[in-house]
Amino acid sequence: MPGIGPRPRSTTIMAVVLGLAATGCAPPRPNIVLVSIDTLRADAVYGKSNRRAETPVLDGLAERGVRFEYAYAPSSWTAPSMATLVSGMHPITHGVTKGSPKAFNQKILHGRIVTWAEALKEAGYRTHAVVTNGHLLADLGFDQGFDTYRHLGWEGNGNVVTRSLLDHKEEIAGSGEPWFVWLHYYDPHLSYLWRYPFAKSESIQKLAEKCAGYRGNVGRVTSRRPNWTVCARAGYLSEVAATDAAIGQALDGLGVRDRDLVVVAADHGEEFREHGGKEHGFTLYEEVTRVPLIIAFPNRWHAGNVVESPVGLVDVLPSVLEYLGIKPSHLYQGKSFLGLVTGEGEQRPLILAVDRFRRVIGIVDGRWKLLKIGDKNRRFELYDLANDPHERKNLYAERREIGDRLDEILIDSYQEMKRRRFKKLETRDFDRDEVKMLKAMGYIE
Ligand SMILES: [Zn+2]
Repeated sequence: MPGIGPRPRSTTIMAVVLGLAATGCAPPRPNIVLVSIDTLRADAVYGKSNRRAETPVLDGLAERGVRFEYAYAPSSWTAPSMATLVSGMHPITHGVTKGSPKAFNQKILHGRIVTWAEALKEAGYRTHAVVTNGHLLADLGFDQGFDTYRHLGWEGNGNVVTRSLLDHKEEIAGSGEPWFVWLHYYDPHLSYLWRYPFAKSESIQKLAEKCAGYRGNVGRVTSRRPNWTVCARAGYLSEVAATDAAIGQALDGLGVRDRDLVVVAADHGEEFREHGGKEHGFTLYEEVTRVPLIIAFPNRWHAGNVVESPVGLVDVLPSVLEYLGIKPSHLYQGKSFLGLVTGEGEQRPLILAVDRFRRVIGIVDGRWKLLKIGDKNRRFELYDLANDPHERKNLYAERREIGDRLDEILIDSYQEMKRRRFKKLETRDFDRDEVKMLKAMGYIE
């Protein structure tokens, strides 16, 4: 259940940092891989065996690293969430959302933010990215700090991402300098395909048996199909399994070892009608905001630890920089969660926000989650995630004192984030073909 921290361990962060410093020379910098996976729900990786995909690569990383059981994306669609992961800033402050309610012109990441690539380049790293998804185009500002930034199109397949990475392996890993690689995989995003042979696992077959018309062949799963939820979910899980395999090939091909640092995260989850809706970007329920987060620190630091206190994507960059002994930018709003790994840190409330089609803001504080939905006729929902992880019973009327306490923190945090917001972000126009792609991706109605 959320809110219970990890057991204290004897090794502290300071001991690790000081221990390295005590050798008399600068500690060797580990190579770093950041893997972000589009549209990956936490339960597709962490869930009970009959509801999840087979993900041996991610499981292996969790075994040699730390798994964050309650990691939250700050939003439920790509642009704001990824902007938060790469900048350590909250969406309300970095402001990367859509341009206006009518046009989808996406705001461009501000030049002042200090990305992973910029912070690591400053520390002597070579920096490379291989990404897919139209929201991460170089001219939307996501290329800041990269020596090479390869954007492989709007809906690139994971095998293509891995192949492109390995085609440039020499350029990346051959220089003798430490390197940072960011990979973004898109496969679990709509449309869900049957990824044979990944659809053969028992959990997926059980779902697939109930799915009319399933033949075991690759094909598009559309919402017009009967029994859509089951079919879609089976296809989706096969995409997750295929992504896991593609990540494994990338890490093997790059020669990633125990001494390297690997972070795996997702930008948001996906709804399969748990609360009536589909896809993502509309709500802030657990199915779209709770994502897997696995960090394999060098040399099995706290290997196998599971952190159960809630943490945010906003905290990942400050945490990695603290581990490396690199001073974080004063712009970062996330805080290092390394203390939660060693058992000495305290959890803090996390703010969530989505404003693609309608405004929803929310807060997670330990086991409690408050959502404020809509501007006019605002509705409040309060959930006890420890007893009601699927958010079925709104306790707002019953537990008003908790709702009011969370709302107070939410209002204060929101004001502070807004106060720090970048003024006048530029937007990027999308051309006619790109608008077509945005529609196909479900981003324009
Ligand atoms: Zn996404």
